[in-house]
Amino acid sequence: MTMTISNPVEPAIVSVENVRHFYQKGGANDLLVLENVDLILRENEIVSLLGRSGSGKSTLLRIIAGLMPASAGRVEIGGRPVDGPAPEVAMVFQSFALFPWLTVLENVEIGLEAQGVHAAERRKLALAAIDLIGLDGFESAYPKELSGGMRQRVGLARALVVHPAVLLMDEPFSALDVLTAETLRTDLLDLWCEGRMPIRSIMLVTHNIEEAVLMSDRILVFSSNPGRVIAEIKVTLPQPRNRLDPAFRQIVDDIYARMTARVVGAASRDGAFPGTGIGMILPHVSTNILAGLMETVNGPPYDGKADLPALASVLQMEIDDLFPIAETLQLLRFAEVEGGDIRLTDAARKFANGEVDERKKLFGQHLLSYVPLVSHIRRVLDERPSHKAPKARFQDELEDYMSEDYAEQTLHAIISWARYAETFAYDEAAGVFSLENPT
Ligand code: ADP
Ligand code: MG
Repeated sequence: MTMTISNPVEPAIVSVENVRHFYQKGGANDLLVLENVDLILRENEIVSLLGRSGSGKSTLLRIIAGLMPASAGRVEIGGRPVDGPAPEVAMVFQSFALFPWLTVLENVEIGLEAQGVHAAERRKLALAAIDLIGLDGFESAYPKELSGGMRQRVGLARALVVHPAVLLMDEPFSALDVLTAETLRTDLLDLWCEGRMPIRSIMLVTHNIEEAVLMSDRILVFSSNPGRVIAEIKVTLPQPRNRLDPAFRQIVDDIYARMTARVVGAASRDGAFPGTGIGMILPHVSTNILAGLMETVNGPPYDGKADLPALASVLQMEIDDLFPIAETLQLLRFAEVEGGDIRLTDAARKFANGEVDERKKLFGQHLLSYVPLVSHIRRVLDERPSHKAPKARFQDELEDYMSEDYAEQTLHAIISWARYAETFAYDEAAGVFSLENPT
């Protein structure tokens, strides 16, 4: 369809081979974040790494840029192994990371100072980058005087000013409002397609499926826990692309299906969430939101089964919002998620049609049956004569399996679920669980 955008005979600029990465957690359980990651970035292409939050995308990008070493494996840029900050790459981050006390011009020049470029040349290159990226007239403004979109343009100018071979972008549009993000994407694509940027290829990290389809020649779909490339999708639609084009929608649907296929694969093992048994890391999704999704899918036009991309678009949710809800429903056996669809179970339909008391009762039954941590806490409370137990007891137990933050998040989730279902109570001030409302 297009001319030669994604030509497989283009030489590789970046190659990542068999990269694994662990984060040390102090305890016995290191966190495996990346496993056997292999990928190649070629000249003249935009490649997206598409994955959910926490899947290790930023970690991989930092490793490619030489900002940190991988635990194992090999990264090469331009045929040379990376073993420190790589001069051929520049990064753009989600948060703009500008120096507030420097002007736009000075913020852009900073990129060149480290390279020892002398002052006159620095200024010339910085002005050219500022002009290219649509910031002329703002040279002497300070970051606080700029909108988010303009600040991200400064971030881009600062990356481009060094004329890197490779531009690495880590969710560069996700802190911007919808319209600003779209303008910046379009401007960037125009510059790229017209060959006006002093770079040879782009790697874009994103959790937004449509953004990946809009911008990339190839999409690498990343799994979570641990992060790994599970699919490669070539997008040959010509630029500029139209989100409403049926061919575009088809690719989006296909990616949803691939990403939810992983969910089901993981669920058959130990739930979609990392860990097993009481050591499962749970997301904090409120019962209101869970009930809301069940009601929505139960009602017309869905009648119990919905296409996730369609639902995401109606509810204006991204995968990082929608997937944890769908997966929590799946964990609780209120839904099955497969092939990009969500289908409510009979219990969920009963829930959606039920009155408050019936809902609470159903939810409580499912919590006790399918969330091991809930049944564990409930058992401890049942067995103790006082029917009370301090939170610290369970926190310690959880921290054998997960970090302090995840333990906190997981307890937070089950406290709010159990409170709704009146499975047990929790006194925030005292930090104590109890059977205040034994059911
Ligand atoms: P993503 O960019 O896809 O959201 P990250 O690479 O930021 O993912 O993180 C992947 C996982 O590694 C997450 O579980 C995160 O909590 C963990 N992590 C990230 N950075 C560190 C760190 N410096 N130390 C320990 N754990 C980390
Ligand atoms: Mg990240």
